[in-house]
Amino acid sequence: MMNVAVVGTGYVGLVAGACFAELGHKVTCVDNNQAKLETLRAGRLPIYEPGLEEMVPKNAKRGRLHFTDDLAGAVSAAEVVFIAVGTPPDEDGSADLRHVMAVASHVGQNIHEFKVIVVKSTVPIGTCDKVRAMIAEHTTHPFAVVSNPEFLREGVAVGDFLHPDRIVVGADNDRAVEVMRRLYRPLTAEGAKFILMDVRSSEMTKYASNAMLATRISFMNEVSALCEKLGADIENVRRGVGADDRIGPAFLKAGVGYGGSCFPKDVAALIRTGQEAEVNLGILEATVKANETQKGRLVTIIKGELGQDLSSKKIGVWGLAFKSQTDDMREAPSEAIIKGLLAAGAEIVAYDPAARETAEVIFGDTITYAADPYQAIEGADALVLVTEWAEFTAPDWERVWALMRDHSIYDGRNLWEPRDLTAQGFRYHGIGRKA
Ligand code: NAD
Repeated sequence: MMNVAVVGTGYVGLVAGACFAELGHKVTCVDNNQAKLETLRAGRLPIYEPGLEEMVPKNAKRGRLHFTDDLAGAVSAAEVVFIAVGTPPDEDGSADLRHVMAVASHVGQNIHEFKVIVVKSTVPIGTCDKVRAMIAEHTTHPFAVVSNPEFLREGVAVGDFLHPDRIVVGADNDRAVEVMRRLYRPLTAEGAKFILMDVRSSEMTKYASNAMLATRISFMNEVSALCEKLGADIENVRRGVGADDRIGPAFLKAGVGYGGSCFPKDVAALIRTGQEAEVNLGILEATVKANETQKGRLVTIIKGELGQDLSSKKIGVWGLAFKSQTDDMREAPSEAIIKGLLAAGAEIVAYDPAARETAEVIFGDTITYAADPYQAIEGADALVLVTEWAEFTAPDWERVWALMRDHSIYDGRNLWEPRDLTAQGFRYHGIGRKA
């Protein structure tokens, strides 16, 4: 058992804190958002993340998980302090390090014996050095700064944290390495890879991983446009390409473009880092451009069929969150798609199993929110699938047909089989699919 403090109780900090508690450590989660703390102390969750709703109250009850705004107390009691606050994009695309540095300064003021400070937030290469310098301004006590980027995916975050492909640790201090090994022993004992490296390589590994994944998606999205033109089917191409061991099947799905709180911001931050270092990252610039194009593609396809003026059209949208199993709307492709359809005059009725509240912040009353998928398509001319929630996989197509006024289906995630739907009379459009 180790005493752990996690500063920042968002998607990453809350999952890390709850999982460390689950692994037997004593964890204090620190946040400066009082509303969030109150929610957590009341045994409720401020975010939707499968698995957390049992894990958080269970570990709180066991006395292994606490929530506080008292950073000083948490740091004093902890052997390891995680910084897991947000690093949102600044205006020029670079990561905004304000929160990270504010926490580093507070941590420095409260070190009275050896501590390991772990930067879990995604931060530009060189940030751990800045954190070290900031802490050193406030203390003469010994401490080590370690980079330990997080690779969890929202929606399956708990599983990812407890069964990671790898744990990347960037450290240049033996004592800190020993602490990190002890902390993660419950996972490495189960076979998780512990990859130790220098701090800057660790910081770079996080950005390079996300940039690679985003690039794969953009690449397949561009290939899907070519498939559409030339009569090939991207789903067949994906199966064929993904079966190559050298390539692998993950992150090859064409769709509405990537979104979320990580890919867009991390790719932009790495491009910015490249500019500052005067190193050309042309592939990444193209990745971003392809993604922007992709977000508009479904709207272009819809207008191509239903007309440029959609003012007499009612469109049912299934899914708002940037992907399934989350309520996160940050950089969600649904925003560009729905705004594009609204701009053309369409009436939008949308349904999402988890993201209604977060979506309301973005769309307000410019769209109508349905209570279930079928309500969203009552009297609709078209059904647009934006997020691949499992509950959309096998709808009652007869009911869908009966509810809709006209029968166009725009499948932004290639979730359905074109042949099945055309056989039932629907006009089906996927992304790069042969109808
Ligand atoms: P988030 O916005 O959900 O949470 C950040 C939390 O930090 C908030 O609760 C906020 O109140 C708190 N905070 C900010 N300043 C604080 C301060 N001074 N003191 C105490 N608390 C403070 O962010 P997130 O999605 O959890 O991301 C955190 C970091 O992890 C980012 O750098 C992100 O890039 C990275 N990351 C995110 C994911 C993901 O899927 N969300 C995955 C891997 C890495």
